[in-house]
Amino acid sequence: MNRGQLLHIDLSAKTSETIERQDLFDKYIGGVGVASKLLLDNCPPNTPYEDSPIVFAIGPLNLFYPCCAKTVALFKSPLTGNLGESYAGGKLSMAMRVAGHDAIMITGKLDKPHYLLIQDDTVEFRNAHALWGLSTRATGRILKEKVPGEGRRSILRIGVAGENQVRYAMVVVDTIRHFGRLGLGCVMGAKKLKGIVVAGTQSHRVPLVKDYKTEFKKIHELVLRSGRMDKYDILGTAVNVLPLNELQALPTRNFSSFAFEGAEGISGERFADDVLVGKSSCVPCPIGCIHIAEARIQFNKKQRDYGTIYVPYDYELIFALGSNLGVGSTEGVLQLIERVDLRGLDAMSAGVVLGWMTEAYTKGFVTQEDLGGLAPRWGEVDAYLKMLDHIATPPNEFYTIAGQGVAALSEQYGGKELAVHFGGNEASGYHTGPANIVGHMVGIRHSHLDNAGYSIDQKTLSKSMTSEEIGKLIAEEDTWRTVLNSLVICLFARPVFTPDVVLDALKVLGEERTIDELKRIGEEVFHLRMRFKNQERFNLDNLSPPARLLERLSPHGRVERTLIDDILHHWRQTHNL
Ligand code: SF4
Repeated sequence: MNRGQLLHIDLSAKTSETIERQDLFDKYIGGVGVASKLLLDNCPPNTPYEDSPIVFAIGPLNLFYPCCAKTVALFKSPLTGNLGESYAGGKLSMAMRVAGHDAIMITGKLDKPHYLLIQDDTVEFRNAHALWGLSTRATGRILKEKVPGEGRRSILRIGVAGENQVRYAMVVVDTIRHFGRLGLGCVMGAKKLKGIVVAGTQSHRVPLVKDYKTEFKKIHELVLRSGRMDKYDILGTAVNVLPLNELQALPTRNFSSFAFEGAEGISGERFADDVLVGKSSCVPCPIGCIHIAEARIQFNKKQRDYGTIYVPYDYELIFALGSNLGVGSTEGVLQLIERVDLRGLDAMSAGVVLGWMTEAYTKGFVTQEDLGGLAPRWGEVDAYLKMLDHIATPPNEFYTIAGQGVAALSEQYGGKELAVHFGGNEASGYHTGPANIVGHMVGIRHSHLDNAGYSIDQKTLSKSMTSEEIGKLIAEEDTWRTVLNSLVICLFARPVFTPDVVLDALKVLGEERTIDELKRIGEEVFHLRMRFKNQERFNLDNLSPPARLLERLSPHGRVERTLIDDILHHWRQTHNL
């Protein structure tokens, strides 16, 4: 089995070469492990984000087992100024595997808009002048026509938000998946890279075919019949809306409260009953966790101009563009999701920015003139649609700063106490308590997915833990998730991919590891990424939680700063930081 092939594309010189880097894959497994090392080695301190490399990487299990379907992208984040790390499903990891590339590193920048066509070992730089300014949907449609071969191909593209350097611009992957967080779309836009198509023709033999079939069947059964992933199949992550609302942990109206009176109207159950029309999957995954809704929309209020839109939804999008904006209808949420998708904006950051703008306007920090003549009110979808367009294509200075994130907005206009972000990354949809807050503060991406502090908080509602235990648990989760992200397994499948399953799965592909070795590598890769953050002026001594989350009650009551510091202390001790 081929492993360790790195495709290096230099945009400035318009050249490419394939390089054998088996050494990196042996040392760091793959995925985020290999990508972290490549980023550190190729991005000196203080490199502007437009000059930073973009590294895509897959791991040894991708395409061979169910749910091993993700690709990691590493880059310098324009939003936080340090590490950009994002994961997408769809068909990208399959396409990289059949094209023969375990990692793709893109350096330099173009002087005019292009898209890349990567077919096996060849790379074409194609003029994208006619695509510049088009939506992600129109771009995707055109790229599909230009590059036939759907089954073995993946298409990435940015929208106008990326072209216009919105710092939380995202990348659409195969229409229903995204590199959503931390601004990969902005980095691609700065490099004048409108899209990337990856296609391949290769096949791969596994060394122990008989054992492989048995192992595949075992994992397939665990995924489909053990009940460990049912939640994702049935209602999808939207199932979280009502339980979090009941816990009073569902961010509502810019995190000013955590119980939304309209939660029923945007619950996973309501979406399923009223608008769900289908489910889709990444390749290869038998779970259809990507829930797709249909909505009939009146495009023009003055005329009988109606149409149908098809939109994928999940919990984070529903919180950010639903409860956090006081929007309580499936139709309203779907319209907003579709708009961020077309413009190429990260839905979570965009929702938190719109929430801040609405509250900042009502409290007098910003004016109607700043807002381009708009007067946002909670729940008013039409105003939010226009504001999203303005963020993607700024008509004035205010919207240019809005495109830099909620930290930049509150720095410039005041209202820092209303700005809910961790290290510059807009917060995700949980106010469960202290572990969630610390988990976001110290998380490599400042994301709920780094260490799932929200899950620890929910467990400690019924079984109390000391701050030492919580700090240790967060650190251990950082490490194990780093292992899973080096294998680039979908994190929804973590209940299936226990350490024993991971070892067996690797073994039949010819890779013998031990649990201690995997954990040691996980810890090493965690430190590599922390090293990159530190070189870009991230400092663990200066962390501060969002004021709003300390002010407002969580299911654990008011979260005291002293408790946060205590958990942080134990987290640092566990990681030796
Ligand atoms: S569980 Fe969902 S996100 Fe994960 S690989 Fe399967 S379809 Fe993709």
